[in-house]
Amino acid sequence: MNTYSHKLKNIQPEETIDLSIIVPCYNEEPNLDYLFERLISVLEPLGMTYEIICVNDGSQDNTLNCLVEHHDSNSAIKVINLSRNFGKEVAMTAGLDYATGKAVIPIDADLQDPPELISDMVAKWQEGYDVVYGTRKSRSGETWLKQMTANGFSRIIQKMTPIKIPQDTGDFRLMDRQVIEAIKQLPETHRFMKGLFAWVGFKQISVEYDRPARYKGETKWNYWKLWNFALEGITSFSAVPLKIWSYIGLSISCIAFVYATYLIIRTLIWGIDVPGYASLMVVTLFLGGVQLITLGVIGEYLGRIHGEVKRRPLYFVREFYGFKSK
Ligand code: UDP
Ligand code: MG
Repeated sequence: MNTYSHKLKNIQPEETIDLSIIVPCYNEEPNLDYLFERLISVLEPLGMTYEIICVNDGSQDNTLNCLVEHHDSNSAIKVINLSRNFGKEVAMTAGLDYATGKAVIPIDADLQDPPELISDMVAKWQEGYDVVYGTRKSRSGETWLKQMTANGFSRIIQKMTPIKIPQDTGDFRLMDRQVIEAIKQLPETHRFMKGLFAWVGFKQISVEYDRPARYKGETKWNYWKLWNFALEGITSFSAVPLKIWSYIGLSISCIAFVYATYLIIRTLIWGIDVPGYASLMVVTLFLGGVQLITLGVIGEYLGRIHGEVKRRPLYFVREFYGFKSK
């Protein structure tokens, strides 16, 4: 059962909107003017009705005021102000919950997802695809270490899960209403959106683009956050790290059994051999290490189960701007 569907009841689309653009914003003030300028210059020529839903994710700068000013001068720009910073994945979920368009496109506020690609996505959607995702041909403005770790991670997760999560793909994609309704039924608190988007299936296709550097401001990601994001992805979509320990344990037991047999035979033939401190130490430390790692892995999953069973709502909204039924 969808835990947050109750919030959606009183939001019925009064007029049908074709496209909903969702922009999660966390301290993005310097990017907003240019973002709206570019978005609108792409959306207007399409000849479709549209809304731009900006989710202010507890920004500490002037992002909210700036968004509200834009809303005042253009009613297609709507604002959801969350009660605090919940992180990009949850901010995006809030946007998806309140979007009413026949197709929905989440896009970053820093213009790393070029708005010009929207027209290609819409064209593919009109051909009959349900999901059109942007695949990065290149990434500028990111260090080779970040690119390498990102690539490594997507390869690893691909090996661990049967779900096909497209490589070099972020959250920038067009999704049909049917897909959005499917995603809204996924109640988990730990939301690895890229994985959820892939998990629901439907008819998918990619369009390629060159990912530019951030327009202004700084990325909110650092290596610690990325590591945790990777753990989130793996634990949400694979139980391999849990299961692998049975096999490692089995292999170690087999080796131990062979070694024990050798020791017994050797003792029977040549008698008791007192020295053995080094081998004892090595075995004890090695097994201790393996056991701690296993516990750590179980802990990662247990912590997430703990998060899920509390069944807290994903987010709280402080104010809405531009939603008719609010
Ligand atoms: N973002 C958010 N909440 C956060 C962190 C980021 O809504 O806690 C938004 C941010 O405003 C931007 C998008 O998520 O629109 C991507 O963030 P960022 O550019 O920092 O990530 P990167 O592109 O470096 O992966
Ligand atoms: Mg960015």
